[in-house]
Amino acid sequence: MLNFHKWLFFKGAKKRNPSIFAHFEELKKTEQSSQSELLKLNEERLKKICCFAFQHSDFYKKRFEEANFNPCTSWSLEAFRKLKPVEKKELIEFNESIHTPKSFFKKRFFVETSGTSGEILTFHRDESWDSFNRAAIWRGYSWFGANPWDRKLYFWGYNTAPLKRIKLILMDFLVNRFRLFDYDPEKLRKLLPRLKHVKIIEGYSSMIYELANLIKNDNPSFDSLKLVKGTSEKVFPHYQDIARRIYKMPIANEYGSTESGIIAFECPKGSMHINMEGVHVERDSEDGGIIVTNLQSFSFPTIRYKLGDEIVLAPSEYKCACGMESPIIMEVTGRIGKKIFGKNQIYPSLTLYYIFKNIYFNENRSIDFQAHQYQKGRMEIWVKEKVTPELENLVFTEAKKYFSDIELTLKEKYDFRQQAGKLRDFVSHLD
Ligand SMILES: [Zn+2]
Repeated sequence: MLNFHKWLFFKGAKKRNPSIFAHFEELKKTEQSSQSELLKLNEERLKKICCFAFQHSDFYKKRFEEANFNPCTSWSLEAFRKLKPVEKKELIEFNESIHTPKSFFKKRFFVETSGTSGEILTFHRDESWDSFNRAAIWRGYSWFGANPWDRKLYFWGYNTAPLKRIKLILMDFLVNRFRLFDYDPEKLRKLLPRLKHVKIIEGYSSMIYELANLIKNDNPSFDSLKLVKGTSEKVFPHYQDIARRIYKMPIANEYGSTESGIIAFECPKGSMHINMEGVHVERDSEDGGIIVTNLQSFSFPTIRYKLGDEIVLAPSEYKCACGMESPIIMEVTGRIGKKIFGKNQIYPSLTLYYIFKNIYFNENRSIDFQAHQYQKGRMEIWVKEKVTPELENLVFTEAKKYFSDIELTLKEKYDFRQQAGKLRDFVSHLD
């Protein structure tokens, strides 16, 4: 039977991303490599992009020279690891001198991305890099028996202007997906009959969780579903409980960023395998933060990039039951650098994650929360459920184990999901 969307996918990809097919084929081959083969391939590519950046990017040339390190003639991993990391604000400030000459590339795409703190980063992504990134997602799909041309449900931001919506709907038709613009219970319910044809659900994990909550009593059927993919947010254990119940499968995490590409993709056995063909990952021994080098981004190299997430890596001898040997990220625990201020002490915002994780595992209670700090020594925790003395007792008792000088209040607020984009578990209103 002719699959229209598959045909359309191939036709579109040949025009826009001609190298996607070669990248995908290669990725399917190397995913079976041993860990030592992958490490070797990874270092070869690392050396290659460092040398290219040294020769063709003014910014990195200077950075390598400052470290007295010529990656083309005297490569060593030790020297590489001493190189000063690059930060997002530098990608913005030195944008032009980071870019390598346009003439190296047949085609480049203009990309714009904004962070949670609001600053906007723009850059040019060369065709091979863009295609590689798409191929890496395609490979992730393939682990679940899904394809990029399959029917998708896609969660997206809110408050989109009408004209933009029309454009997006047209674009979505071409890639066989429909997306949700609003978090409106009625609109979500209307979707139910269409869900049985969906093969892939993707979007922010918290939205996928919200949908499951909303439809849990409607006996939804997901007969065709192969993959539920969560991006950009932490997946809490209680998200997975309800996902297993409603979607009949857990949420698989895709971890990456626009500038770094796909960093890791979760396999059907639940491990986030590092995309060794596309990124070189280090963990900063000082703050636990990820340092990532994109191995494909020749038009706009990001070498030793401090992405801002804190990660935990699996020990190198850890073997995943799926058989793939690429190294594994155990957990993306949160953003580094976000601070909660007590009267005298300072705490990492990650503390909140541990408090609610403990309550979940010890008391078997899942609490949807978002914490807000308006004033030092005080913090509001917004919850979706009714605030009872029992709930207060539960949260305050656990919190006391971590916070010694913060006065907490619980507030019932149902609608804290109503903001665009990523759901943050801690919002600081302090300067
Ligand atoms: Zn695995």
